[in-house]
Amino acid sequence: QAKARGRNGFSFYAPSMTGEGVERLRLETFLRRSIEKDEIFLNYQPQVEIDTGRLVGVEALVRWNHPELGLIPPIRFIPLAEDTGFINQLGKWVLHEACRQMVRWQDAGLHVPKIAVNLSAKQFERGSIVNMVADILRDTGLEPQRLQLEVTESVIMNTGDAMVFINDLHSIGVALAIDDFGTGYSSLAYLKQLPVQTLKIDRSFIKDISTDVNDEAIAIAIIQLGKSMNLSVIAEGVETEEQAAFLLRHGCNLAQGYFYSRPVAADDMLVRWKK
Ligand code: C2E
Ligand code: MG
Ligand code: MG
Ligand code: MG
Repeated sequence: QAKARGRNGFSFYAPSMTGEGVERLRLETFLRRSIEKDEIFLNYQPQVEIDTGRLVGVEALVRWNHPELGLIPPIRFIPLAEDTGFINQLGKWVLHEACRQMVRWQDAGLHVPKIAVNLSAKQFERGSIVNMVADILRDTGLEPQRLQLEVTESVIMNTGDAMVFINDLHSIGVALAIDDFGTGYSSLAYLKQLPVQTLKIDRSFIKDISTDVNDEAIAIAIIQLGKSMNLSVIAEGVETEEQAAFLLRHGCNLAQGYFYSRPVAADDMLVRWKK
């Protein structure tokens, strides 16, 4: 029943291992080499102001295209990367690439006000996440205020020093958003103490916003909470005009979702948004 993983990700398995386990191991092996093999890239999903349609930012979303397995969605490889520790390398690559891309767009004549990058809990456990971010900002020349890091409620609540790191990140000028807001267990007391600028309403509440009274109530409550705490609120997963209209009517003027744009390649941002 030997199933151990060494510090450098080396693993071995007993013959009794299930097919699923073998598949996972294969994926792990491929994943570890994905960056050096140039299989990892980013897509960018626009964030817009509902009433004007203006571009206010983008969210960077990681993609893995394996030559044999094809495009593998992040929900399949992020957890794997977290389990194996590869997330540290991957997260750093993502952050660097995202910041670099902001500068490339600028040079190409497109001003994207802000880029949001997802952070996973494991990236906090290492400590010194602040140094990594500061190095990348210095290296790329991106202004810290134009970088927004997204963390979920569970990252904040379950990571020992998350509060410390978040305060450190704030002190170097980086913005912070709480992702999938409302789905984790959140403590409003924490919210009050944290230097957070943005709440992202999880898309599960947006989906049936105009038909499900509970979702409607939750969305409105989050918008109100944001307002009274002076935070900006953005809705995720906006797919229809009705959802956008509902949000606007209830005081949320920021949205991200297929109604505006799917996540796209860097160059496609120029096609659609460069004036
Ligand atoms: P997330 O951060 O909440 O990102 C939003 C997800 O919703 C993205 O899925 C996006 O493609 C999808 N989405 C956006 N608009 C719509 C819509 O209108 N309808 C529907 N059905 N979906 C929409 P994606 O790219 O598959 O990413 C899934 C999750 O994987 C992300 O959720 C995030 O938690 C994680 N992830 C993605 N990139 C990274 C990364 O670079 N680092 C880390 N740590 N996690 C990442
Ligand atoms: Mg996100
Ligand atoms: Mg989200
Ligand atoms: Mg999510």
